[in-house]
Amino acid sequence: MKILTLNCGSSSVKYGLWEMPGEQPLAQGLIERVGLADGIITHTVTGRDPVRRDRNFPTHGHAIEAVFEFLTDESHGVVGDVGEIDAAAHRVVHGGEQYTHSVLIDDDVITAIEDNALLAPLHNPNNLAGIHHAMTIMPDKPHTASWDTAFSAAFMPDRATMYAIPYEYYERFGIRRFGYQGLSHLYVTRRAAALMGEPSSDVNIVSLHIGNGSTVTAVAGGMPVDQSLGFSTCGEGLVMGTRCGDLDPTIPLFLMKHAGLSADEAEDILYRKSGVLGLSGRFVDRREIIDAATAGDTRAELALEVECYRIRKYIGSYSAAMGGIDAVVFTAGVGENSAVHRAKACEGLEFLGIEIDDDKNRAAFGRTAEAEISTADSRVKVFVIPTDEELVMAVDAEAIIEDRYDIPTRFRYTFEESGFVPTYLRMG
Ligand code: ADP
Repeated sequence: MKILTLNCGSSSVKYGLWEMPGEQPLAQGLIERVGLADGIITHTVTGRDPVRRDRNFPTHGHAIEAVFEFLTDESHGVVGDVGEIDAAAHRVVHGGEQYTHSVLIDDDVITAIEDNALLAPLHNPNNLAGIHHAMTIMPDKPHTASWDTAFSAAFMPDRATMYAIPYEYYERFGIRRFGYQGLSHLYVTRRAAALMGEPSSDVNIVSLHIGNGSTVTAVAGGMPVDQSLGFSTCGEGLVMGTRCGDLDPTIPLFLMKHAGLSADEAEDILYRKSGVLGLSGRFVDRREIIDAATAGDTRAELALEVECYRIRKYIGSYSAAMGGIDAVVFTAGVGENSAVHRAKACEGLEFLGIEIDDDKNRAAFGRTAEAEISTADSRVKVFVIPTDEELVMAVDAEAIIEDRYDIPTRFRYTFEESGFVPTYLRMG
């Protein structure tokens, strides 16, 4: 069975074609700058060098058409015809309270994605656009949805999901904490348990997805018990590229009352002008933050310090929430690549049993290696694990189609097996 995974972001489309069972990636690709000038598609067939083409993609529809064009192309394609693709698995950010695990997409699911766009206005509409376009090209094939909220929203206890505001707002508007980036946290925590040679039900892990968007999840015995993002993808938790993370909610109210900001302007500041960009005044890319801080730029240094201090606080608080931890995992663009962030985030945490090996930490770089970066004596293991959300989507879709899918407490993923070979190695 050949499964296409599609991940439609606000200005990007990430895709992969998988041969199942066996989780063999046939091709992967990334389309950047959808809806903007200077678009790029990078298409990689397993075992070959990436092909890069400049092309503009005015809409997500154009981007999805390009995905099928490249997958069936005479020289760069991996299938002769679209009909050879058996199913499509779509990533959707917000499933609300209704959808707490991957599902086959039907009319009710489409309606739920539309309804939940109120809670994820930057994400769900793009996800839905991708689904509609792919369904037009593959009308008779099953399409599945895997949700970013599902892993945490399903399993976090009430004490972690409820805000201490009048209960009627939960009842009337569904205002509660959901948690995000669950596909990534599911993958890296199950991999970490496998690398430790333990069943995931036996270990407590702090999982750090640090990229442009960042989250930390407390995963106890394989299940999330707390998550740093709550209701929205912005106003709680870690410092992100342009999003603020933890914030006193009276600050935007103050700015609206005293600086004359409208609600839309306040939202724009919190989502797009805050985070390391807001603190540094110039940079989103953490490589530039590190370079500028090293060169003596005090605002860049402040941004780095605030971001890493926030991560450190969450490691500490989630260790307390779980009554102790066995591992810390770093993943995503910053987590997989930045030894500086990892070292600063773990600084002073020896009292928790966390000790980083500087040489191993510096050596862990790029999307090509799972690495343990703690010292031999460290009571808590520290891992760098390249995330693989698409693999989770493909495995879920295959299991749904074969009618053997189950919630993560009962479903065992192939990447939990000790002999599992990660996708980056299978790509050749
Ligand atoms: P997204 O949330 O958009 O998926 P990614 O997980 O791709 O984000 O992470 C993107 C971030 O990773 C960028 O801000 C980039 O600065 C950071 N990054 C990539 N390589 C490095 C590196 N070597 N050192 C520090 N940060 C890095």
